[in-house]
Amino acid sequence: MALRTADEYKQGLKDGRRVFLMGKKVEDVTCDPYIKVGVETAAFDFLMAHDPAMREKAIMADPETGEDISAYFELPDYPGHVAKRHELIKAACYYAQGAIPFVKDVGSDIINGLTVAARLMGNKDYLTRINDYRSYCARNDISIAGAVTDVKGDRLKGPSEQKTPDYYLRVVDETDDSIVVSGAKAHITAGPYCDEVLVIPCRNLTQADKANAVSFAIPLNAPGITQICRPNFRYEDIHHFPTSHPKRGHLESLLIFDNVSVPKERVFMLGEWQFAQYVAYAFSAFHRYTAVTYKIPILEYMTGLGLLAAEANGIAKASHIKERTIDMINYTETTKALAKAASMDPEDFGGSKLFVPNRLTSNMAKLHFAANFHEFVRNIQDIAGGLLVTQPTYQDWKHEELNPYLEKYMGGAGEYTAEKRLKLMSMLHHMVASDFAGWHEVCTIHAEGSFAAQRMMLYAEAPMEMYKEKARKVIGI
Ligand SMILES: Cc1cc2nc3c(=O)[nH]c(=O)nc-3n(C[C@H](O)[C@H](O)[C@H](O)COP(=O)(O)OP(=O)(O)OC[C@H]3O[C@@H](n4cnc5c(N)ncnc54)[C@H](O)[C@@H]3O)c2cc1C
Repeated sequence: MALRTADEYKQGLKDGRRVFLMGKKVEDVTCDPYIKVGVETAAFDFLMAHDPAMREKAIMADPETGEDISAYFELPDYPGHVAKRHELIKAACYYAQGAIPFVKDVGSDIINGLTVAARLMGNKDYLTRINDYRSYCARNDISIAGAVTDVKGDRLKGPSEQKTPDYYLRVVDETDDSIVVSGAKAHITAGPYCDEVLVIPCRNLTQADKANAVSFAIPLNAPGITQICRPNFRYEDIHHFPTSHPKRGHLESLLIFDNVSVPKERVFMLGEWQFAQYVAYAFSAFHRYTAVTYKIPILEYMTGLGLLAAEANGIAKASHIKERTIDMINYTETTKALAKAASMDPEDFGGSKLFVPNRLTSNMAKLHFAANFHEFVRNIQDIAGGLLVTQPTYQDWKHEELNPYLEKYMGGAGEYTAEKRLKLMSMLHHMVASDFAGWHEVCTIHAEGSFAAQRMMLYAEAPMEMYKEKARKVIGI
């Protein structure tokens, strides 16, 4: 089959999956006004693959059949793969008008992490299975959600120490050909509109947690799977001013496995608790970098919004606004520079002969991004003014009696007519002052691992001995 069209992807989602939103079962995720935002964002992955202008970045030849397949599924077995993927993900985001299509990157990051783990375990069965799964996904152009985060209960306790075993996904039964799993994974991006989900443990485990040491892939319409998701913003957004393209974004789900049967050819880890942390580390080495990469187009776009707000309010040259502008530029360009630096210094992960971005630098990039995003937003809010939250809606603008007032009072500096300024303020509201903006701020902190995860990696990866040796030499001890 190889590359699917966006329409084929959407048709594939009409498969009887159990998805709930605001207490109601969603019959067709491609038509739901909220979930459609995510479906249409994800569809860019499929549109891109058929666009000749994107071919060089988006497509590769299947190593066995020579057929066109998505470049997301390339085996990262040469150092240059890191920079190539950095460019692919950025290009996909620019193509999707600033949003990340997402439905192949997290899945392929997990496939890469599991390939590393199988190589390092020296487990030939797992290696064959994950290689077969990579080919299956590439040849059928599968969209994949990544399910890592367990619901976790008491964070300081491991799975077997919790008051109930339900806080971590686990194996509840096993036959010669299959396993049965129960549990829930939280915050699963694009879960409602991916074809399959790939599951791995989220933490280190002990022998007592053996049942939690499980990794597998399964179609999201499998019996026993239920997803509960919450709305973000509507596809048909009637309050904001229309833009040249509908707004893009994603939804997450609470993904529940109620005695779900998984065939063993789709099981990539079963009981090897000693390797659980390794799988989580290997995945995050790939994924944290993917995450940093897809922040770049968003930050460039948001910096642009801040600059336009300064222009519209006539304050671009005011000295304190110049300071805000410099801070925004410093933030955006430092994130970009760190991300680029990580791709220029790839590492062979644990001697697996698979290459990941430099882990110290990519964690620094993610930490820099997450730690300073709120201040970046604050700068834009300061520049834009109170209209961010008090602006009349598009319905008011269209209202016969109200429009003349808005025309009269809402204009800005220079060429900013009332319509132009309100249009800009409407987008700014969406990005820095709406429910979605709150989602974005929390996403920045927690998605792809919260601050502590990056700080731990900095501590683990920093060249401490080198620093000390430099000091010893100077002192002469
Ligand atoms: C928008 C969004 C999208 C996401 N998408 C996905 C996805 O597609 N797939 C997926 O698997 N996950 C996804 N995640 C989950 C994300 O990886 C987690 O949110 C993140 O790892 C933090 O976990 P948590 O939300 O359970 O918060 P917690 O881990 O509960 O963190 C809350 C606080 O507790 C602290 N803490 C946690 N554990 C400990 C401990 N043992 N000791 C001391 N302090 C601790 C943390 O440092 C933090 O300060 C997504 C999250 C968001 C917000």
